[in-house]
Amino acid sequence: MPPKRVLNPQSIFDQASVEEAFEELKIRPQHLHSLYSNLILRSATDYDEIVDFPKKAKDYLSQNYVLSTSKVIHKKVSKSGDTIKLVVRLQDGLEVESVIMFYEPLSLKPAPENDEASEGETKPKLVADGTSRRATLCISSQVGCQMACTFCATGTMGIQGNLTAAEIVEQLMHARKEADIRNVVFMGMGEPLNNYKNVTQAVKLMIDSRYFGLKPSRVTVSTVGVIPYILKLATDLPKVSLALSLHAPNQEIREQLVPSARSYRLDKLMGAIDTYQEKTGNKVFIEYVLLSGVNDLPEHIDELGELLRDRDVTVNLIPWNPIYSPEIEFSAPGAESTEYFKNTLKNKYNIRCTVRQEKGQDVSGACGQLVLETQAQRGANADCGTADIEDLMSPGAREVSPAPKCNIQ
Ligand code: SF4
Repeated sequence: MPPKRVLNPQSIFDQASVEEAFEELKIRPQHLHSLYSNLILRSATDYDEIVDFPKKAKDYLSQNYVLSTSKVIHKKVSKSGDTIKLVVRLQDGLEVESVIMFYEPLSLKPAPENDEASEGETKPKLVADGTSRRATLCISSQVGCQMACTFCATGTMGIQGNLTAAEIVEQLMHARKEADIRNVVFMGMGEPLNNYKNVTQAVKLMIDSRYFGLKPSRVTVSTVGVIPYILKLATDLPKVSLALSLHAPNQEIREQLVPSARSYRLDKLMGAIDTYQEKTGNKVFIEYVLLSGVNDLPEHIDELGELLRDRDVTVNLIPWNPIYSPEIEFSAPGAESTEYFKNTLKNKYNIRCTVRQEKGQDVSGACGQLVLETQAQRGANADCGTADIEDLMSPGAREVSPAPKCNIQ
């Protein structure tokens, strides 16, 4: 179990708590709607900006809640301008990362003379001009992760805590100041399904058409395979997209890469995917990080092809990249073998397959990497860590362009 975290004061985006308080104070539900629509759609920063908002509600909220419990302490735009990483400090000092990936290159403009650098950040020469550009946000659900996947930097951190639903939503609020977020992928730090209650609560607010209004299929929950919650997700949020971080064609290799596979065996996991698809009708995105000599050999392609051939899936291949954590030793596959893997799955097994386009390398836009890098190097040479772990977002969550890369499960 992750260490328990208690926030005080709470975030206004802790919707369940605010709702409960309004009921106790006998404040009519319409004011709850008014509160969130003003905060989210009109970017209100003061309760006085809300028309006809009861004084009783203002007073109570002012005393017990804050508009944000977290803040962005480090922001970096990639050299190509298509990725922004945000390091977000939580109320208790823990840090998580979010990555914004633009569909089209971001235009950069010179930073204003009076633009102050945030804490721990060197003042940028260029700043992004992206608030009107459509983008995907890769979001974190936990601080660290207990799943300990052997190729993942976050996995080396252990679990430090679950994010509250409000902290998850606040990542979206921070990102909306940088870009027009159209897709959200839970592929940052953490295993979302190990923080099920808070993740689903946050997702419900994100897809609520009265507020953020994200299309459910454009919100992707990525899991390394927590079977009970895959099945629960099919009932609770059937229109939200699911990505499975498979990474291996058989039980033996999967156990080497994903230790939780010992509890959630491959045959049972694929059975859960079948049940999920029967209930939801959704295609499932399969994430597969290619590790040279480990899971990318011709026999592995055949095993994977047999495993997936009659299932409605799209496979996203993620060629391994060096990561910042020196203790993680894997080799990247060559471009030719990656191409061979993809073409064989497509042509021999008729499986839709893409190779992940990488984004954010120079901002270390990968699972767990941002925080690892900045804690170690902030103020030194923030450009040196290239990191990738698993990757990214599902094509189903994309709107226009090739899939950007963030990282992931
Ligand atoms: S790959 Fe995902 S599930 Fe595995 S350790 Fe990293 S964050 Fe956790």
